[in-house]
Amino acid sequence: MPEPSYEVELTPPDIEPYRAGNTGIDYVTTLDSGSPGPHLLVTALTHGNEICGAIALDRLFRAGLRPRQGQLTLAFNNVAAYHSFDRRMPIASRFVDEDFNRLWAPATLDGSRQSAELARARILRPFVDAADFLLDIHSMQYATAPLMLAGTLDRSAELARRVGIPELIICDAGHAAGPRMRDYGGFGDPASRKTALLIEAGQHWERRAAEVATDVMLRFLVTLGAVSLEDARPLGGPDFAAHPRQRTIEVTEAVTISSANFEFVADFRGLEVLAKKGTLIGRDGGREVRTPYDDCVLIMPSRRLVKGQTAVRLGRYVT
Ligand SMILES: [Zn+2]
Repeated sequence: MPEPSYEVELTPPDIEPYRAGNTGIDYVTTLDSGSPGPHLLVTALTHGNEICGAIALDRLFRAGLRPRQGQLTLAFNNVAAYHSFDRRMPIASRFVDEDFNRLWAPATLDGSRQSAELARARILRPFVDAADFLLDIHSMQYATAPLMLAGTLDRSAELARRVGIPELIICDAGHAAGPRMRDYGGFGDPASRKTALLIEAGQHWERRAAEVATDVMLRFLVTLGAVSLEDARPLGGPDFAAHPRQRTIEVTEAVTISSANFEFVADFRGLEVLAKKGTLIGRDGGREVRTPYDDCVLIMPSRRLVKGQTAVRLGRYVT
């Protein structure tokens, strides 16, 4: 399958000015309004090559935006991977040793295994524990419509609807390879009130991904009362005032690769709707992978087809 090549339109910002921060942890800053209110956490660079989130945080810092109530923590997560970013090989800097966003199980974080990403996750864990609301900013391999990944809890989907952009909300349980930060602790607990969203803002290096990341971040902050619409508006991009009719896709399963040899039968990019139940989508070693129902939607087919990882998620439109 020919790989699409995307031009790197975005310039990775210099985040050195944010290294010192004010929390004692590199690249983590907490802005305290001095007034009571929720603690919001916005994170970028969970994957080191997903630079739109770093651009969004850089814009927020440069604008001097501060919370009017509660606290706002801004964190650059996998800085080590980000610093290895190379425009000629932009995909390579996703992580150093392993995927930072598959480590968020207490047993993994408390365990004895070591990696660059585990070390960073352990340092950042208290901030994730302390936050009432999380927005984790990502981007995707293929250029498709932005996706808000709302997890499986109703309160997260409801927050995605209150934020109001992007158009598509994905309700999904994550990956067999390990829990994401957005599913960690109270964020994945039906009995908690902690609420997390993960935005996939567009293709990793397209200019529009930085606009979507910024607008979603601003709308998240406004929705939760951290900043006023007036404070946020000067930073807003093309979607800042948008009110699309949102649609929700419920993910029913993740296709986890079980062999050393997985391939898709077509050049899927994501959001294809396959009309007929039983349509062949790939082969995992000798096993055929077929759609389990009519009008099956393919979510974020991966180009990294590695055993134990997710090849694609399958879902259907529910609204
Ligand atoms: Zn990502």
